[in-house]
Amino acid sequence: MVKINKITPLDKWNLGVSSKKPLIIAGPCSAESEEQILNTAIELQRGGIEIFRAGIWKPRTRPNCFEGVGAIGLPWLETVKKETGLLVSTEVANVKHLEQVLKHDIDLIWIGARTTANPFAIQEIADALEGCDIPVFVKNPVNPDIELWIGAIERLSQAGIKRIGAIHRGFSSYGNSKFRNIPQWQIPIELRQRIKELPILCDPSHITGNKNLIHEVSQAAMDLNFNGLIIESHINPKKALSDAQQQLTPFELIHLIDSLILRDIISSDTEFKTVLNELRHQIDVLDDKLFDILEERIKIAEQIGHYKKNNNITILQSDRWNSILENAIIKGNSKNLSEDFISKIFKAIHQESINKQTNIMNK
Ligand code: PEP
Ligand code: MN
Repeated sequence: MVKINKITPLDKWNLGVSSKKPLIIAGPCSAESEEQILNTAIELQRGGIEIFRAGIWKPRTRPNCFEGVGAIGLPWLETVKKETGLLVSTEVANVKHLEQVLKHDIDLIWIGARTTANPFAIQEIADALEGCDIPVFVKNPVNPDIELWIGAIERLSQAGIKRIGAIHRGFSSYGNSKFRNIPQWQIPIELRQRIKELPILCDPSHITGNKNLIHEVSQAAMDLNFNGLIIESHINPKKALSDAQQQLTPFELIHLIDSLILRDIISSDTEFKTVLNELRHQIDVLDDKLFDILEERIKIAEQIGHYKKNNNITILQSDRWNSILENAIIKGNSKNLSEDFISKIFKAIHQESINKQTNIMNK
């Protein structure tokens, strides 16, 4: 059970922004100078953006990089607000940051991925937020652990914060990938199922780490009913002191937002519903067949388990398993099913067979 007090749905946040969908937060990775953020903000505001972001303290993976300008950047954000009318937001990673932020006229804060991964830090921030009414977005932890993400949201909710949202920024992994942080969309989808009213934004900048992939990930987020996007934009990305490769110019960002296709979540069209129901029925029938086949396959694996036990043979037969997996990938390929998908399914089936055979062996 998720222990969350009532969360205010996004359309009732009273931020003073128009109710245009989706909610867009845009601005540079880092505030570098007053001039840089103001020039970026002016162009974003001209393009219709209503909420500005800029990191003041930057949690960098390696030392000796630009780690943010620190608290001197907070009055710059106030200047942006005064000059452009934009709402302003920044990241807090600890109670010291929060105390500084609350002394300035900052409209919204977010908790970064490395902070969400640390329950001590989150609890301290939650305690310090008690009695405040500021909206807080919680980024997913760097590791793909939905309980940790929900735990952070619970801690803030229990401190009385009502305007809580989540930001999906992808998950760290070892080795090469097209993405800087793998999206693993099933995790934010599960979060939506578990906390129904929670607004969820997508951060395609930190997912991709590459300005050329931001459109495709933003569109995917829109097609998965995310409530909005937080995207990095810098007046001169090439000169950015952090995350230069993923920042768009304000012009590029506005063009990208305008080109997103926004589809309806539901349709009242009866023909659409009839066709969809028919197709879903076909899926249900196939799912039932899948269950029958899995049941049959596991029963045979159990027979093999008994047979191996009676003959005093070990469960794992590496050669046999390697050849099953190899053949499955080749067959999957010929049926337009990706290697990743087939190998995940077959590994899961194999693991279940091993579990059943282990039970039989040790009975
Ligand atoms: C950021 O939004 O600037 C940031 C540091 O992101 P994350 O916490 O997702 O790495
Ligand atoms: Mn960044």
